[in-house]
Amino acid sequence: MIDPGPRSLEELEARLARDLDLLTLPPAEWVPPRAGVLDVAIVGAGMAGLTAAFALRKLGIANVRLFDRAPAGREGPWGTFARMETLRSPKTLTGPALGFANLTFRAWYEAQFGTVAWEALFRIPRLQWLDYLTWYRRVTSPTVENDTALTGLSGDAEGVTLSLDGPEGTGSVRARRVILANGRDGLGGPFIPPFWRDVDKRFWAHAHEPIDFAALKGKTVAVLGAGAGAVDNAAEALETGAAKVYMLVRRKELPRVNKSLAAGNAGLLLGFNDLSDERRWAQNQYIADTAVPAPHNSMLRCSRHANFSLLTGCAIEGARPEGGRLALDTTRGPAMVDFVILATGFTVDWARRPELAELARHALLWRDRYVAPGREGNEFAEHPYLGRDFQFQERTPGEVPWLPRVHAFNYAAVLSHGRVTGDIPGISVGAERLAAGIAGALFAEDYDHHWQRLQTFETPELLGDEWTEAEGF
Ligand SMILES: Cc1cc2nc3c(=O)[nH]c(=O)nc-3n(C[C@H](O)[C@H](O)[C@H](O)COP(=O)(O)OP(=O)(O)OC[C@H]3O[C@@H](n4cnc5c(N)ncnc54)[C@H](O)[C@@H]3O)c2cc1C
Repeated sequence: MIDPGPRSLEELEARLARDLDLLTLPPAEWVPPRAGVLDVAIVGAGMAGLTAAFALRKLGIANVRLFDRAPAGREGPWGTFARMETLRSPKTLTGPALGFANLTFRAWYEAQFGTVAWEALFRIPRLQWLDYLTWYRRVTSPTVENDTALTGLSGDAEGVTLSLDGPEGTGSVRARRVILANGRDGLGGPFIPPFWRDVDKRFWAHAHEPIDFAALKGKTVAVLGAGAGAVDNAAEALETGAAKVYMLVRRKELPRVNKSLAAGNAGLLLGFNDLSDERRWAQNQYIADTAVPAPHNSMLRCSRHANFSLLTGCAIEGARPEGGRLALDTTRGPAMVDFVILATGFTVDWARRPELAELARHALLWRDRYVAPGREGNEFAEHPYLGRDFQFQERTPGEVPWLPRVHAFNYAAVLSHGRVTGDIPGISVGAERLAAGIAGALFAEDYDHHWQRLQTFETPELLGDEWTEAEGF
């Protein structure tokens, strides 16, 4: 008999509860409590933070709290600056489900809209993904403090102190371990080509910022970039009535092949961090150099507008205000526009994260260990050189003993661990590795407690009345 599947979220949640029950999950907590100290503090309650919290819960680590500076339901890019109609990821990816069929996007979708709608669905609509993550948060029920920003990190050999700024003002929290699940720009920010910083901000925005598209109605807009962000922002401008939208691409050709699709098998997800430094750098460099194209459907969203123009081999060499507009000097000639959107992506740039200044000062970076020949000054050199459990490592061992208690579960782990910390395909693999590493570390730290518990454990299995001692042969 074919199981028609749950027909409502209530039914789905009952199935999920039974799955957990059958697996005796979550297990009893085993980490000895320390008054006023969290076992784990997670900065960021987006997909990565929520998945990490549930992976820890699966291992019986529940003295965990998440902090996110965004209001509840506004975490991550989905309902803020992301402007695509659908996710790029195939709808069948199981993402943060951590092996639970009834925790997948598909289960959530089918329970509400049925299997026919699922079959008909092309890709996951952006805001539906946010709804799914909101449901994921509800059913996995971590403790989250929203509107609460991390403003600093310090610590000692026993733990880390997080300085926080929340609705009740500023304060601090102690934790034995800290997970930075703070996103694509977690150790940096939007990449802004240097000369743009001197151009009057009235004329430009980064795609990562809020943009008043209604104000661009009837205007000429240039979008800089070759990837999904450029296409999505161009489409948004076109759909809200921009008179003309140019997409200006510095490369001679638009990238067409998404190389990272060939880098998603289990071997790679599990084995990447054991590769040599040379191979780890080379693989990331190759994907960065070949660049990831915009999805097919996103490109069509632009090119169906007659007032959309794409120019390749078009680098911007200068920009200056002229008569209330912006004059651009480009390698393909001069152009007058009203507004420019920089879809230039993100960069690892520690100076943009004052809350991580102490980490920045003392963390071992790739440039301390390995830089590919001829790539000096490359952004990858600034990535942290992480340990097996995503932990930061000290540049000078012993100098900052709390530093290895902080784990980078954000994009900047990509050079050390591959794509297991931000993108949907590998997030469960990353979260399981992170949680297992933290569980092992907490156990090792509390060894004396566990050793003593073993020795003082006196609950008998045999009461002595189950047999009679023989008197001899
Ligand atoms: C526009 C866009 C589209 C994407 N589309 C896809 C896709 O289709 N498929 C795919 O696999 N991946 C996609 N990604 C990549 C990735 O899946 C997303 O970036 C995803 O949001 C990563 O989840 P995260 O939890 O790591 O980060 P986020 O969702 O960004 O969550 C990080 C959280 O940390 C919080 N935070 C940051 N700093 C602090 C601080 N100091 N104090 C407190 N909180 C803080 C933020 O408020 C945020 O809520 C996309 C990324 C972007 C930017």
